[in-house]
Amino acid sequence: MKAQPTASHFINGVYVEDTAGTPIDIIYPASGELIGRVYSATPSIIDQALSAAKTAQKSWARTSGTERGRILRKAADMIRDRNRDLSTLETLDTGKPLQETLVADATSGADALEYFGGLAASITGEHIPLGQDFVYTIREPLGVCVGIGAWNYPTQIACWKGAPALACGNAVVFKPSETTPLCALKIAEILVEAGLPAGLYNVVQGLGDVGSALVSDPRVDKVSLTGSVPTGKKVYAAAGAGVKHVTMELGGKSPLLVFDDADIEDAVGGAMLGNFYSSGQVCSNGTRVFVQDGILPAFLDRLAARTNAIRLGDPMDEETQMGPMVTEAQMDKVLAYIEIGKSEGARLVTGGKRAMGKNGFYIEPTVFADVTDDMRIAREEIFGPVMSVLSFSEESEAVARANDTEFGLSAGVFTKDLTRAHRVIADLEAGSCWINTYNLAPVEAPFGGVKQSGVGRENSKAAIEHYTQLKSVYVAMGPVEAPY
Ligand code: NAD
Repeated sequence: MKAQPTASHFINGVYVEDTAGTPIDIIYPASGELIGRVYSATPSIIDQALSAAKTAQKSWARTSGTERGRILRKAADMIRDRNRDLSTLETLDTGKPLQETLVADATSGADALEYFGGLAASITGEHIPLGQDFVYTIREPLGVCVGIGAWNYPTQIACWKGAPALACGNAVVFKPSETTPLCALKIAEILVEAGLPAGLYNVVQGLGDVGSALVSDPRVDKVSLTGSVPTGKKVYAAAGAGVKHVTMELGGKSPLLVFDDADIEDAVGGAMLGNFYSSGQVCSNGTRVFVQDGILPAFLDRLAARTNAIRLGDPMDEETQMGPMVTEAQMDKVLAYIEIGKSEGARLVTGGKRAMGKNGFYIEPTVFADVTDDMRIAREEIFGPVMSVLSFSEESEAVARANDTEFGLSAGVFTKDLTRAHRVIADLEAGSCWINTYNLAPVEAPFGGVKQSGVGRENSKAAIEHYTQLKSVYVAMGPVEAPY
């Protein structure tokens, strides 16, 4: 098996196996071939990981931020040096083409480690003068942080959760998605090689029950989940029962508004990036593309032409622009939505079928026009390469329709009118927004959703708030004035 990891779990600085757990087959999405097998964590594995984390965190919290940062930055350099190997592994795990993984996955993980490594030494409290007396605050780590990942960005998610947690002095137990178990193990290995003390970044494999056991364990202080809204509701509730800190990065059905005055090639390019990158398996995708009447025919012409030219194929060929869906089940779910779209009366502009034969899980990039707000393809997260184009005539109408959803992860607007761009963005209910581009998520900018798309923010200085807590210390400089 060509991607068999050394063992299923990485605990206390070493690989650990326990074949008593449920087997998890690792399938290469481009061929349907079995490339490895790991085992879901048993209660003993979960216990080992949490106790290693709990023990290691105490001394890590006492190291200086400079020292913590140095290790994280070293790991970032090592990831960049090994980018090709890590990108190949990401491609094996997810089926995303190398053309993408070489620039968007390990590199994004390295950015997070470098950024939070740089911030680690600047995490401080403050001094609050009160006349003679004063208060100072200590920004303390939370303790043991559990990260639970989705399958679309396994390397990036492992780092986006690990880097800020470790920079702030926490320990991490990370559970990758059962669909993509490989990449996080490599990140754990690299962190230890970079000098991270054993026990601070542990990886345990498992299905939802392992995630659930981690969330409810009393040793855990914080849970950060990247996943769907239904899972998010369960995890949020379970974390709430233990009054634990949470970050919830959940799903979306984000709107992208294209006004008549937009640069048409930019708008079409933005809509394609926001629907077809990673075969459409991106949480922040702008899957409801609202196009103003005047530009609609020209927009659809260019969109169809450029979509038809997308190169589907072998993800390991660097010329390939689009790979398969992550699993057969995800492919079937997306194909079912395409049928729903047709039966609801949406007009299929291009795509709509399984592609590349019967082995890989490929779907043609698909565009529906004449989509209306009530159709299921316009309301539910499909998580595949299916774009819905809706038309609008007035700005206020477009904004109201864009906001008519329980989700609120992202939103975008294409227009040359700067005033309108800022006015519209201000009115859109979304956490991560773009003007005249789509889906860029640099580590320097906060990332996260509003409404049911999540709570908390990843990346940027904002993430520090979500991996630390404040202790305030009142210091009296004079006698105690007691009335008794
Ligand atoms: P999912 O919700 O099925 O699973 C996410 C993770 O939660 C997996 O690791 C799974 O094993 C675990 N899990 C499942 N049940 C659990 C439980 N009861 N307790 C604890 N853990 C549990 O999501 P998925 O299918 O892996 O990923 C796709 C979803 O993730 C989409 O909805 C997508 O929008 C979302 N996503 C969001 C972001 C973001 O940053 N907002 C990024 C990527 C993906």
